[in-house]
Amino acid sequence: MVLPKAKVFPDTARVNGKGHLEIGGCDTLELVAQYGTPLYLFDEATLRGRARAFASAFGSRYPSTRVVYACKAFICVGLARLLLEEECGFDVVSGGEIAALRAAGIPPEQVYFHGNNKSPQELREALEWGVGRVVVDSFLELELLEDLAAQAGKTQEVRVRVSPGVDPHTHHHTTTGVLDSKFGFPIAKGQAAEAVRRALRSRHLALRGLHFHLGSPIFEVEPYVEATRIVMEFASRLREEGLELREFSPGGGFAIAYTEADQPPAPEAYAEAIVSALRQGCRDLDMPEPSLTIEPGRAIVGPAGVALYTVGATKEVPGVRTYVSVDGGMGDNIRPALYGAKYEAVVANRASQPPAVTVTVAGKFCESGDVLVRDARLAPVTQGDVIAIPASGAYCPTMASNYNMNPRPAIVLVGQGRSRLLRRRETYGDLLRYDAL
Ligand SMILES: *Cc1c(COP(=O)(O)O)cnc(C)c1O
Repeated sequence: MVLPKAKVFPDTARVNGKGHLEIGGCDTLELVAQYGTPLYLFDEATLRGRARAFASAFGSRYPSTRVVYACKAFICVGLARLLLEEECGFDVVSGGEIAALRAAGIPPEQVYFHGNNKSPQELREALEWGVGRVVVDSFLELELLEDLAAQAGKTQEVRVRVSPGVDPHTHHHTTTGVLDSKFGFPIAKGQAAEAVRRALRSRHLALRGLHFHLGSPIFEVEPYVEATRIVMEFASRLREEGLELREFSPGGGFAIAYTEADQPPAPEAYAEAIVSALRQGCRDLDMPEPSLTIEPGRAIVGPAGVALYTVGATKEVPGVRTYVSVDGGMGDNIRPALYGAKYEAVVANRASQPPAVTVTVAGKFCESGDVLVRDARLAPVTQGDVIAIPASGAYCPTMASNYNMNPRPAIVLVGQGRSRLLRRRETYGDLLRYDAL
């Protein structure tokens, strides 16, 4: 049986003989019976497939490419180990993400530390562990890191994050490479050049290259091309001051399909555009080709993740709309409330039935904005049914909260008919564990 909206589901998704949504060979209704809802599942085949797709799209065009997974999209010990098997490196933005990778046994030299306000404590931890690169993002950080590295008697390899001033045409909350952004040293205002000079002068920092990240999700390739050109020209201007661009990173931000209408470029399209711009820049400016680091987060975990919810109350406002409430919502997926993000939804226990009703899938949290999908076209849906929301793997569990003292969902990995718990569901005991008085 054909799965409607297959485009936005993991690669292994299908409808089984019972008419249930099946992913990774697992009947989602059986997963729900075993683990409860809300439940997040990740399809192992899609995770590995996406990591390989980026590695081969870029690697076939530019062999010295490294795929570095951005942990903030979603990380846990099990996922880190899986992506290490796929030869990914790891981008982190906090001491907590570093702790997760340490627990997973990730080699520290595979780790790249980002962030616009890393604390002295976090920088100390990163240095002590021996992270591969620190991507410096402020003058304060240049000073702090220099002092900490001196104290530790180490030389830390760094990249400088520059802001090329390119608008990637995404939501303003997730735009990062424009001039008016808290991220990166602006090229246009001279701070980027100053940061490079200071890093070059430093005795305990070894400047390896430049990084930028434009925002996310970016549905066009042109912003990468434009920014690559700007950053290469910048690097070329600083050559006589001693900058050797050995490493270049255009960040992540690669888009995925959240709805059937979305048309994200394929990894090959991003690769073709970025690699061509990089090669062209090197030719035009007579520079040696640097190594390339790409940093997909969303594009690896997003399509692999599916959220499963149980339907509870339905409220019909005659002539206005019908609300179908589920047992999760903004506590586990804040993206619709935060960015107006759009999703598809499917009734997992009637997966092959054509849409018959238009309803608004609402969460259970005490905010009117807690709506997961507005005007979803669903098969007939009633209390006890299971609603699946695809493309939920990125920035959902990692942005989850305990709003309303709600425990966060369990997360499972599925593949070849087996399911394994990646993270257990929180208990009330977990919620109370931090109360001190
Ligand atoms: C968030 C982030 C990424 C990943 O963005 P995605 O949209 O998840 O691909 C990559 N690099 C940096 C520096 C980031 O902050």
